[in-house]
Amino acid sequence: MARKWAALALVAALWVGMCRAGAEYRTYYEIFVGSFCDYDGDGIGDLRGAMSKLDYVCDTLGATGIYLMPVMASPSYHKYDVANYFAVDPEYGTLEDFADLAEECARRGAALILDLPVNHTSSSHPWFVAACESLARGDAEGEYVGYYNFSRERGSGRQPVPAAEGWYYEAQFAEDMPDLNLDNDAVRAEIAKIVRFWLDIGATGFRLDAVTSYYTGAAGKNAEFLAFLKECAGDAYLVGEAWTDGGQLLSLYGSGTDSLFNFPFSQKDGDIISCVLGGRGAALAKSVADWDARLREAAPGAVDAVFLTNHDMVRSAGALRRDPALIKQAAAVYLLMPGNSFIYYGEEIGMRGGSRGDPDKRMPMIWSLEDDSGMADPPEGAMSAETVDAGAYAQAADPGSILSFYARAVAIKSAHAALARGRAEALDAGFAQVCAYEAAHGGEVLRVYHNLGDKASLSGLEGFAMVAWLDAGGESPELVGGVLKMPPLSTAVLAPGAR
Ligand code: CA
Repeated sequence: MARKWAALALVAALWVGMCRAGAEYRTYYEIFVGSFCDYDGDGIGDLRGAMSKLDYVCDTLGATGIYLMPVMASPSYHKYDVANYFAVDPEYGTLEDFADLAEECARRGAALILDLPVNHTSSSHPWFVAACESLARGDAEGEYVGYYNFSRERGSGRQPVPAAEGWYYEAQFAEDMPDLNLDNDAVRAEIAKIVRFWLDIGATGFRLDAVTSYYTGAAGKNAEFLAFLKECAGDAYLVGEAWTDGGQLLSLYGSGTDSLFNFPFSQKDGDIISCVLGGRGAALAKSVADWDARLREAAPGAVDAVFLTNHDMVRSAGALRRDPALIKQAAAVYLLMPGNSFIYYGEEIGMRGGSRGDPDKRMPMIWSLEDDSGMADPPEGAMSAETVDAGAYAQAADPGSILSFYARAVAIKSAHAALARGRAEALDAGFAQVCAYEAAHGGEVLRVYHNLGDKASLSGLEGFAMVAWLDAGGESPELVGGVLKMPPLSTAVLAPGAR
């Protein structure tokens, strides 16, 4: 018997390994569909609009994957509370629009992943409506009652059931977002069906919403549920939103999930922006290498998912003092880092957004400051105005723009597999402001140098050639006679083998 279990465990481990082996390395572009591009002119961005901007996303910027925030039918502007998992929200279009978008992405070789909120549904979802009706009739055994976490006890994160006195339901996020009972086999069967449905019509994977809330306060059960989702998705790519610390992330990686967003490195106080602002390059290299080592040890084959900010965060341009040089340098760091990099739409043109509420973090993409065609209206509840120095079209035509810089950084990562796949080993460059690490993969050995402070001259690099460089501060690095001269805010990628 013990041998049988050992064999099963081995098969499971191989399966997880195979799934991960299928994960591809990409630079993703995150889109809030409602604010990205309005195709039919009703003021709300839509799937046809997103499709009309694939040249921009895939060619101008060079992203190789697209992550769409929720597109399923929902009563809210943000659509994280789904009322029908098998339909596109009418504001965004139709299933046919989605299939067309997926086909066009596939034609371009771009991945297309979808936000999958299954921690909770909308309170208007037919399952929840039916469950509440059962309870109101005094029928606690009704078919859908078991889909949610109903209780006779009031408590934290619980709301009273309308029309069924004495009953409460779990709703950790909001009253209109009842938490699903993920222990229920029928709910799991529904979720497996949802995953299959979207993969069948062209999605290549999912961004898993609210992973740490699947089971509030039960990390082990969250990992188990992630493993279930990986089983449903097969070799499709999964990236989870677990807004937590490094230790928790590593334990969740044990589930076999391909990627989890690297929250500790994100935002103003995260390792990337804080080190760029503080000129602490050597410290950054150590953070990058230490995390890479811990991740590879905990979950060989897992793919880090690095980003500066997402739709729940104040846009990074503000933290970077609205300074194009700092904005570019932070981008150079995370767009070249190991794993998959995720760009939040608008970040690549330096959009600033507001900080008052979530809608202010999801403002309309500014295609042009002169011509508002394709531009959506601000989302419901937005209280601030979006600003940018130049719109996307103008920046695409300007080689010195933030957008052109992002495109160059994305192209460098796409061209050198060792950057995404190689294990980062910190190097001592002899300057505290220089972030230096080596990454090797499949015979390619690269050295990455970011100068986050005053100019620095690094010697002893005879036998190396500069294969790529970036000039966030405006001046390019030079490699002459084994000496790498780095102006402030510059990046150099070196490989052995002098030409
Ligand atoms: Ca529209």
